[in-house]
Amino acid sequence: MMTLPVLGLVIPCFNEEDVLGETSARLISLLTRMRDEGLIHDRSAIFYVDDGSRDNTWALIKELSAVHKEVCGIKLSCNRGHQNALLCGLMTAPGDMIISVDADLQDDLEVIPKMVRHYREGCEIVYGVRKRRDTDTFFKRISAEGYYKLMAAMKIDIVFNHADYRLLSRRALDALSEYREVNLFLRGLVRQIGYQSAIVVYDRAERFAGESKYPLRKMISFAWQGITSFSTAPLRLITTMGFLVSLISGGLGLWGLATSLILNQALPGWTSTVVPMYFLGGIQLLSLGVIGEYVAKIYIESKGRPRFHIDKLEGDAFRKDLQE
Ligand code: UDP
Ligand code: MG
Repeated sequence: MMTLPVLGLVIPCFNEEDVLGETSARLISLLTRMRDEGLIHDRSAIFYVDDGSRDNTWALIKELSAVHKEVCGIKLSCNRGHQNALLCGLMTAPGDMIISVDADLQDDLEVIPKMVRHYREGCEIVYGVRKRRDTDTFFKRISAEGYYKLMAAMKIDIVFNHADYRLLSRRALDALSEYREVNLFLRGLVRQIGYQSAIVVYDRAERFAGESKYPLRKMISFAWQGITSFSTAPLRLITTMGFLVSLISGGLGLWGLATSLILNQALPGWTSTVVPMYFLGGIQLLSLGVIGEYVAKIYIESKGRPRFHIDKLEGDAFRKDLQE
């Protein structure tokens, strides 16, 4: 008989004390069910990554891991953000396949067995894709869908309505570990791996406790991260803009010359001089800013600093004496 695959569930947690109890109860019962159905190995486990929480999250994780053998914890030295916490979990948790999911259970857990079945049929990557967005606010829905369309227009390869709910096989994780960038946009990176993949669709629920750890400010910076990490389209836009403006001003110059030489008329005055001046000044500053953003990225990347530091590990999966 084929040996069963070991599943690792990776859950980044930042100040999630309100949800961890319920999340654990549901994940443990899901793991038990899948074990009983002969879908996954007994050693399958849950890995909470505490992203430098300032509440009781780590204490709770320790407690849970003392009581339940399938619960493990990874504590980051300080808050490094969702993407880094996620990467830390993916790079640290053992297992033949890893599924990443948020702590707030907005993503329907019932598709996890489906992801595993795809894995067993030979897929290396399985994307969780949201069917509808009716639990989102109007603003979030419009902005998120607009964003995915903008990415597509820039030819950035991402899966529409897929966030960070996905399965990665060991082979895909090894491939991911070869991407050394510090500015992380995992959903874009995973697309570049290119191994055989599948999609499972689900409905997304509301966060059942606590509040979003992604305020608008973080969301915008993450969106910009996604674009600048995968596309130089904004730079090309500047070139196009420069070209168009030069063309137009050349035309205007000819027109001015013609009116004064042929019609012998003075050009009408102030507005036509001052408005384009400010306008061009604005465009130039904006362009410099965009170029600056890319330069800043090079600056950060060139240092190649570590993306996270693990402070503590907790749970059976990390105990050498329990491994065979
Ligand atoms: N998260 C994290 N570090 C952070 C911010 C968020 O690990 O700095 C985790 C958070 O605990 C949750 C996941 O990332 O498990 C997604 O966050 P959230 O559900 O608040 O985002 P939303 O669903 O509102 O976009
Ligand atoms: Mg959430």
